[in-house]
Amino acid sequence: FVQIKNLEKTFGDHRVLKGIDIEIQKGEIVTIIGSSGSGKSTLLRCINLLETPTSGAILFKGENILDIQYNLPKYRAQVGMVFQQFNLFENHNVLSNCTVGQVKVLNRSKEEAEKIALENLDKVGMKEFAFAKPAQLSGGQKQRVAIARAISMDPEVMLFDEPTSALDPEMVGEVLNIMSDLTKTGLTMIIVTHEMKFAQEVSDRVIFMDQGVVAEEGAPEELFSNPKEERTKEFLQRII
Ligand code: ATP
Ligand code: MG
Repeated sequence: FVQIKNLEKTFGDHRVLKGIDIEIQKGEIVTIIGSSGSGKSTLLRCINLLETPTSGAILFKGENILDIQYNLPKYRAQVGMVFQQFNLFENHNVLSNCTVGQVKVLNRSKEEAEKIALENLDKVGMKEFAFAKPAQLSGGQKQRVAIARAISMDPEVMLFDEPTSALDPEMVGEVLNIMSDLTKTGLTMIIVTHEMKFAQEVSDRVIFMDQGVVAEEGAPEELFSNPKEERTKEFLQRII
């Protein structure tokens, strides 16, 4: 469904991604773990083309999204992203945050977009805040709105970049619960997280990145309880 082949990304003379190969099946839940600076965010940003890879290929449904003929706007609409820092439109209210993309990118009518947005806000427990501005919300509430906004676009793939690491501890659970619900809907999800318990519970596969390469990958029960690589062991000992 998503195939990443020998992906490289260099900033100046800093090789951040050094030949990444990952294949993700439709509906698969993949979590990516690894130390700060190992290239996790850069990888996600390459997958949704917020960064242009230096070389390699990213195939979506068999087609290379890096081909110049590829329909990028269509691809972007199919890939949702939730960031650490929420990235809500501060001057729009919650409902409007969840409708602008639908109207502009998917050409939905305002009425239809609002109906879909309210359904998704309801799913994340934020319907009653539809007319609030982001500034009035807690971090956990903002992140739940960001998730509702992303899923209102009916994405085929959702990318999450440490969606709970900017949250106060008491709000982490509410966001993880929503994400956990999403994993049961058949959506393909790629999640960068430091929440190891969550990763262990929801993932079909865990990928451990170290210094720009995939150092180890496997089923969560394998990787967490019986890591094969020395650097995976060291990382897990440090973090758990
Ligand atoms: P963290 O866990 O701290 O979020 P990460 O695994 O997401 O780390 P990246 O953000 O992908 O790591 O960064 C990997 C390396 O690439 C870092 O050394 C970073 O400084 C560098 N880097 C990332 N983006 C840029 C950029 N736009 N320009 C230059 N260097 C960058
Ligand atoms: Mg990061």
